[in-house]
Amino acid sequence: MQIELERTAFPAQSDDDLEALTPLAPRPHKPLWPTLLTSFIILAPFAALGIIIAQTVNGDFALRNVFIAVGFYIVVAHGVSVGFHRLFTHHAFQASRPLKIAFAILGSMSFQGSVIGWVADHRRHHQFADRPGDPHSPVRPTSQRFGRIRGGLHAHIGWFYEQESTDREKYAADMLADRDLVLIDRLFVPLCVITLVVPFGIGYAITGNFGDGVAAFLWAGVLRVGLWHHVTWATNSLCHLIGKQPFKNAAASRNVLALSVISMGESFHNAHHAFPSLARMGVDRFQIDTSAMLIRLFEKLGWATRVRWPNPARLEAARAHR
Ligand SMILES: [Zn+2]
Ligand SMILES: [Zn+2]
Repeated sequence: MQIELERTAFPAQSDDDLEALTPLAPRPHKPLWPTLLTSFIILAPFAALGIIIAQTVNGDFALRNVFIAVGFYIVVAHGVSVGFHRLFTHHAFQASRPLKIAFAILGSMSFQGSVIGWVADHRRHHQFADRPGDPHSPVRPTSQRFGRIRGGLHAHIGWFYEQESTDREKYAADMLADRDLVLIDRLFVPLCVITLVVPFGIGYAITGNFGDGVAAFLWAGVLRVGLWHHVTWATNSLCHLIGKQPFKNAAASRNVLALSVISMGESFHNAHHAFPSLARMGVDRFQIDTSAMLIRLFEKLGWATRVRWPNPARLEAARAHR
């Protein structure tokens, strides 16, 4: 009926014209290549893991590759947790220009999208946290069959396939006004190449053997990228589904203690949604938050200023048990 009305009101010349006119037109056709690229980036670390296991079983294992991988993991992961997340998204502190540039580059080496796009998506996540408009909420109506599993999969990887981009002008205008960040945002693809080539170069430089370069590339390039992907994505999925909720907040966010060390303190996600702009997410005793430790170090060095540290009275006031 709607199509008939539109035909009458605006005589369309072709089906394309009709699609443009009618509000009930089917959604525009999405290109296939982003789906294929996303799938490749998700699957490649599993392929690398398979090769690494096969090589190890055959006695081809070098401990140095583990150290190189862990080193890259720690540096690049903090690029996201300290840089992309606490500094750029939430302004938990102010950074000196060299520190800002370093963190924008390091975070970009995580294969999680360019810095401005990442920040825009994450700000939208906080704005709508677990309500319509949140790009990656796992929360589903309790009536939905397998709702938790389906929601968890959507929050973990499914939302990448929706090819929905967040309005950068609306959500990241401050970043678009920063020439350094705009430049680094444009350099995202070269930085993705660098994050894989440098481990190869290190492995090759140590022994002069091409195969050792490839092994370092698999460990400290592809596998390391994949591991940090899943830890970051678990913050979107698991940290909104399972774990403790010590603080009151509108989101379904939770603290997942088991992920705290490997997530650089990011898995204290309930505390984070309660106090998004704090430099520390592990706000309680014995909660290890290496990102906060690093920010403290930068503060002591004078590279980080106006750091937003937790206020005990405000924390107490927000406790869920009150
Ligand atoms: Zn969240
Ligand atoms: Zn956040």
